[in-house]
Amino acid sequence: MLDVADRRETPGSAELAERLRRALPGGDTRSSTFYEPYPIAFERGEGCRVWDVDGNEYVDFLNNFTSLVHGHAHPQIVEAVALQAARGTAFPAPNVAQAELAERIVERVPSIELLRYTNSGSEANMLAIRLARAYTGRERIVKADGGYHGSWEQLPLAGSPATGSHDGTPQAVLDLIHWCEFNDVESLRAAVEEAGDRLAAIVLEPVQLVGGVIAGTPEFLRAARELADEAGALLVLDEVVTLRLAPGGYQSVLGVRPDLTTLGKIIGGGLPVGATGGRREVLEAADPRRPGHVGHSGTFNGNPLTSVAGCVSLDLLDAAAIERLNGLGERFASGLRGVLEAHGVEASVTSCGSLVQIHLETEGPVRTFGDTNPGSALLARLHRAALDEGVFFAGRGLLNLSTAMDDAVIDRALDALGRAATTLQPALERV
Ligand code: PMP
Repeated sequence: MLDVADRRETPGSAELAERLRRALPGGDTRSSTFYEPYPIAFERGEGCRVWDVDGNEYVDFLNNFTSLVHGHAHPQIVEAVALQAARGTAFPAPNVAQAELAERIVERVPSIELLRYTNSGSEANMLAIRLARAYTGRERIVKADGGYHGSWEQLPLAGSPATGSHDGTPQAVLDLIHWCEFNDVESLRAAVEEAGDRLAAIVLEPVQLVGGVIAGTPEFLRAARELADEAGALLVLDEVVTLRLAPGGYQSVLGVRPDLTTLGKIIGGGLPVGATGGRREVLEAADPRRPGHVGHSGTFNGNPLTSVAGCVSLDLLDAAAIERLNGLGERFASGLRGVLEAHGVEASVTSCGSLVQIHLETEGPVRTFGDTNPGSALLARLHRAALDEGVFFAGRGLLNLSTAMDDAVIDRALDALGRAATTLQPALERV
């Protein structure tokens, strides 16, 4: 087995892994960031680069799972955070920064008339479901196989426990979910019919990220809008990741207006964040002036530190910046397809704007979550070889770009990935 430590010297990461294992199960506190034999520990990031605890440099194609759309330690974000930190990090009271961030979001996304803050995308989806249930007086949810909405057990990734344990989730909770295939209108229709007049919401990502970077088709998302209306249910679009793809979110690209939208990642400028927004009359269920309102609290909801960072992040990510970033992403994805093919690696590279996913050892091109193979041994080898070449991305093959990148960074990364692909040759010959 190719060991990272064989080529890049990472004793500091190994040592930290040992130390963490004494306090955290497997030394881990975030399932998505673990990989064997031990994850590389980072010490510092700047722009599109990160340095590990042993001083090795990597170009960062993960950007904290898309939240660092401007890369690490952007000077304007650092300045805003430092200024705010010196004035106080959190108050149990309204603050101007939370108004400024909310105004920016409402202006960008027309379907968001009102919003509430949370501290993560997971919490944003929890609140969306709570509001949808309160508004409709119903309990059932339709969601897509491979749709990831965070770590809340009421919205698991997949219907089949084979792709992720349902241990610890009450069966009564799982029984409230009706599953459909992403981008399959007939399957969606069947799930909606199954839920019948107990359907509270259809919850979908406009582009499935964890499910394999699979873009939703306009036909599918528009059908979801119509079916939700016919059923008297709400449509919730999870744009926690996809707000980076267009100023108004991917809903503006698809031409679909959801009742509720959940956000996170880039609206916090790199700090913990989430938000649930949408139709005024749905959000008003949480208006504290209303008798019997939906209670929703959080010690750090709308904190000024996150909010000032979020304002700078959104201001920097204007339409021109998004267009440039999407263009870089498309160039990178097609370059990656070429590089892998040139090295005899049969891969399916799916992409949408600045989001890219490498699929290896699949049976043909990847069109749905069911086609993916996140457990591919070859992918694990490529991931380690890429680390050796100084390119960092998710162990399961997810990459994304930041505005801190340019053509030269992309070209060098493609060369490095080409060298990484070369190391797969012996394994390929055995296949
Ligand atoms: N929704 C989507 C589409 C996501 O990709 C994620 C996280 N990657 C979440 C929700 C959850 O966000 P968080 O990790 O901030 O809870």
